[in-house]
Amino acid sequence: MSQHCEDTAADALIAGAGLNDQQRAAMEVAEAARGDAGRSFAGRLFMGSYEPEQLHPFPTQDDDDRRTGDELVERVTTFLAEHLDADEVDETRTVPQVVIDALQEMGIFRMKIPEAYGGLGFSQVNYNRVLMAIASHCGSTAVLVSAHQSIGVPQPLKMFGTDQQKQTWLPRIARGALTAFALTEPEVGSDPARMTTTAKLSDDRSHYVLNGVKQWTTNGPIAELLVVMARTAPKMVRGKERTQITAFIVETDSPGVETTHRCDFMGLRGIQNGIMRFTDVRVPAANMLLGEGQGLKLALKTLNTGRLTLPAACTGMGKQCLSIARRWSASRVQWGLPIGKHEAGREKIADIAAGTFAMEAVTWLTSHWADQDRDIRIEAAMAKLFCSETSWRIIDHTMQLRGGRGYERAESLRQRGEDPWPVERMMRDARINTIIEGTSDIMRLFLAREALDPHLQVAGDLLRRGVGLRRKVRALGRVMLFYAKWYPTQLWGRLFPRRHRVYGQLASHHRFTDRNAHRLAAKLFGAMARYGPKLERRQVLLGRLIDIGTELFVMSASCAYAESLAAGSEAGDSPRMLADVVCRRSRQRVKQLFRGTPGADRRRANELAGRVLDGECRWLEQGIIEAPAARTPAPGAVERCA
Ligand SMILES: Cc1cc2nc3c(=O)[nH]c(=O)nc-3n(C[C@H](O)[C@H](O)[C@H](O)COP(=O)(O)OP(=O)(O)OC[C@H]3O[C@@H](n4cnc5c(N)ncnc54)[C@H](O)[C@@H]3O)c2cc1C
Repeated sequence: MSQHCEDTAADALIAGAGLNDQQRAAMEVAEAARGDAGRSFAGRLFMGSYEPEQLHPFPTQDDDDRRTGDELVERVTTFLAEHLDADEVDETRTVPQVVIDALQEMGIFRMKIPEAYGGLGFSQVNYNRVLMAIASHCGSTAVLVSAHQSIGVPQPLKMFGTDQQKQTWLPRIARGALTAFALTEPEVGSDPARMTTTAKLSDDRSHYVLNGVKQWTTNGPIAELLVVMARTAPKMVRGKERTQITAFIVETDSPGVETTHRCDFMGLRGIQNGIMRFTDVRVPAANMLLGEGQGLKLALKTLNTGRLTLPAACTGMGKQCLSIARRWSASRVQWGLPIGKHEAGREKIADIAAGTFAMEAVTWLTSHWADQDRDIRIEAAMAKLFCSETSWRIIDHTMQLRGGRGYERAESLRQRGEDPWPVERMMRDARINTIIEGTSDIMRLFLAREALDPHLQVAGDLLRRGVGLRRKVRALGRVMLFYAKWYPTQLWGRLFPRRHRVYGQLASHHRFTDRNAHRLAAKLFGAMARYGPKLERRQVLLGRLIDIGTELFVMSASCAYAESLAAGSEAGDSPRMLADVVCRRSRQRVKQLFRGTPGADRRRANELAGRVLDGECRWLEQGIIEAPAARTPAPGAVERCA
C-alpha cells in the first residue's frame, strides 16, 4: 500500500467530516498510528469478496507444538484445581503468592518470551490454550498473567525492541520480573490524543523526565517494569503541530513512581490494578521503544495481538458455563421435567453450546493466523467484539438456568451443601470484557475505519478539500474505472452466489455468506456515496454493517472449524450440528441487521437523547435518592496505598 494512498484516505476522512478541533486532533493521532492496511480475509468481506479457501483446511498445530501445549495445560490445570480457590481470591482480593510462585516455576509468566532469552517461546495457540484453562477457573489469575504477557512489556519489547533492549529486559522478565501496560489516564480512555502524561527530553538528551498519572494499570502496583505511553515534544507535520506519543520502559523502583490507589472492581477482584503517579521520573533515553512519536502505533499493534487472549478467556468461561448448564439442566426437575427439557431451557442450552463453539472457532483461527504472521488486526478486533458480547449472553443464560442459585455466592452454596458453582462471580468477572482493550463501540469504529479504507483509497482525492481540479478529474476517472467493474460484480454475486458444494452439508451457509458479503459491500459503498466522509458520524449505521461483517466472519470460521473436527471423527457429527446452529442464528441476525431501524425511529431517538442531555427530561429522575457526586480527594490524588 503506497504512502500516498494511506495519506489520501486519512486526509479525506479528517478534512471532509466537519470535525471540531478536538475531534480533528483525536482523528489525526489515531490515523498517524494506524499503519499500513493489509487486505485480510475479513477485510475482503467488506469489499464483497468471500474466500473460504483461506480457512480450509482449518489450521492445526503440528504434533510437537500440540504436545508442548498439552503438557503445560495439563500441569496448570491440575495445579490450579488443587491449589487455587478462586472464590477465596475473589473474597480476599489476593492471588496467593505461593500460587504466583508455582506458576512462575512452571513458566506461565514467560510463555511468550523467546527461548533465546530464557522463555518458553510458545506459539500464540499454546499461550491461548493455557490462558483458556486458567480463565475457566479464575478470571483474576488469567488477567494477572495476561496483563503481564499479552500487553505488558514482553509483547511490545519482542515486537519492537532493539537487540540491546531485548538483551537487557527479556531475560530479566523470564526470571520473574512482572510487568504492566500503562496507557489509560483519568481523561484518556478511548481517546489517546488527550493524553497529559509528558516525557521531556533532558538538555543532554540522556534521559526523559516523566510526569503524569496513569489510571487502571493492571499489575501496576506489583510490577517491576511498565510500558508507559507519554507525550513527547510535538512535531510539525505539513505546517501543523502534531501530538507525539512515545512509549518507554519504566522501572517502578525509580524515584518518583508511586501507586496512589489500588482500584476495587465489581469483578476480577483479585487483580492488582492501580492509579500510578509519575513525578519527575528519570527514564533513560535508551528505554524508549520504537522511536519518538511511535508510542500509539506501538500500543495499537501490541493490542492487535494482545487482544487475542480475551477471546480465549471468554471461550474458557463459555465452556465452564456449558458444563454447569448441562449438569444443572439435566438434574433440576420442575413442573415434571428437567428444566433443560422445557423448550425455554433447550433454547438457552443450544445458544450456550453454539456460542461457545463459535467463540472457540474464531479464537483458534485468529491464534493460528497470528502464528503465521498474517495481518489479523480486523479478525482480532472482530474476535474480541464477538467473544466479549457472546460470552456475556452465555453467562446471562447460565445465570437464568441456575435460577436463585445462580445469584447466590459460591461460598454460601458450599456452606449449605450445594454445588458451589461460581456463576455469580463469573458474571461479575465477565462484564468488563466489552470495555477493556477497546470497548465494543470503539471496536466497531476501528473496524469501520478498516472496512472503509479500500474505498477511501480509491475515492480519497475526490473527498478531500483543497485538492486541485486537475487531480480531482484524474481521481474521478480512477473512481469511475474502478467502480464500473466493481459494482456490477457485487450485484451479480448477490444474485448468483457461488454454490460452494465442495463444503458438503454446510455449503448453504457458505453460499449465504458469499451472497451477503456482496450485499454488505454494496451497502457500504451506498452509504459511502450518500454520506461521504460524514459517514464516520453515522455510528449506528456503521455499527450494523460491522456487525454483519462480524457475523459473516464467525459463520465462516465456525463452518471451517466444524469440518476439521468432524474429519477427526472423535466428536462425531456434533461439530457440524453446532456450526449449523451457529450459522442459522447468525443468518437471522444478519437479516435483521440489514433491515435496520427505520430512519424516522433513529432520528427520533437521536432527538430524545439530545433533549435528555439538555436536561429537558429531568422531571423523569424525580423521586429517587440521587447518587452522590465526587468528594475530594479526586482519583489520583488519594492517599498512597499500602
Ligand atoms: C479492570 C480494568 C483493567 C484495566 N486494565 C488496563 C491496563 O492494564 N492498562 C491500561 O492502559 N488501561 C486499562 N484499563 C482501562 C480500559 O482499557 C479503559 O477502561 C477502556 O479503554 C475504556 O476507557 P474509559 O473507561 O475511560 O471509557 P471512555 O473512553 O470514557 O468511554 C466511555 C463510554 O463511551 C463510549 N465511547 C467513547 N468514545 C466513543 C466514541 N468516539 N463513539 C462512541 N462511543 C464512544 C465507550 O465505548 C464507552 O462505552 C482497565 C480498565 C479496567 C476497568
